[in-house]
Amino acid sequence: MGIEAEIYDKKNNPILTDLKDDIICPICCAVLQEPMMLICCGGHLCLSCLKDVRKSNFKDCPLCRKTGYSATKSRFMQSFCSKIELICPVDGCNTAVPYFEFEEHKNRCLEISMRKMTLKNHADIFAQNETLTRELEESKNKIDKQRKQIASLEAKMRCNEDKRLLNEKVLKDQLLEMNQKLLASNGDYKDLKREYEDLKNVQ
Ligand SMILES: [Zn+2]
Ligand SMILES: [Zn+2]
Ligand SMILES: [Zn+2]
Repeated sequence: MGIEAEIYDKKNNPILTDLKDDIICPICCAVLQEPMMLICCGGHLCLSCLKDVRKSNFKDCPLCRKTGYSATKSRFMQSFCSKIELICPVDGCNTAVPYFEFEEHKNRCLEISMRKMTLKNHADIFAQNETLTRELEESKNKIDKQRKQIASLEAKMRCNEDKRLLNEKVLKDQLLEMNQKLLASNGDYKDLKREYEDLKNVQ
């Protein structure tokens, strides 16, 4: 498997444009890694791709179909590759990196972006926890307030009930008092009447 990255060609280098297709391995369609040259047809492929092809049952050259093919390390392609730059595919990087530094750079970049993601996740979880804690606190306060309101309403009701009982008692006492007064005035009236009758009889 070759290197999955775009070739950096900002200056539109004519040599690069000519050779761009040759830098791409025809087996894996990625940038050649450890480029090998086929003796039969001069085509290039990655060392690992050549090994994969050899493992398969086909005994012909994967490019020109010649039987009994052989390949050799391509010094030319290696030195050409050493002059190109590949674009780091990691999100937020996209830097042009020299061919031979690419793998190391990409791995480091991936590690950094993964660490960033983990940190971001941690921050997100922390923020979520904070929100939940705040919401819980708010609900608690609301419940407390409602509890206090209920208690004060209950106290008011109790107070009203006490007042009612007191009023009832006062009314009863008043009624009793009035009855007694009435009885008393009835008695007075009878005495007066009797006095009046007596006076009348005397005359
Ligand atoms: Zn060939
Ligand atoms: Zn390949
Ligand atoms: Zn990078």
